Amino acid sequence: MWKVSIIRERCTDCGECLDACPGEVYELRAGRIEVAHPDECHGCHTCEAVCPQEACSIEEE
Ligand code: SF4
Ligand code: SF4
Repeated sequence: MWKVSIIRERCTDCGECLDACPGEVYELRAGRIEVAHPDECHGCHTCEAVCPQEACSIEEE
């Protein structure tokens, strides 16, 4: 299992993580990027790599 979180203080809601994620983990809701389906994460770390703010956090649990 992977724990997906967004560090809100850093996130600018740019959507890069949503666009890059091969699953459906992130969603845009009312202008904010949210972790909608964390169970779909398979730990590829792509969102961490593309986030310009280093605001994506993927941890194994
Ligand atoms: S890529 Fe980073 S800054 Fe952009 S919406 Fe995702 S978490 Fe926020
Ligand atoms: S680690 Fe991969 S599968 Fe998980 S949220 Fe990030 S881009 Fe999506």
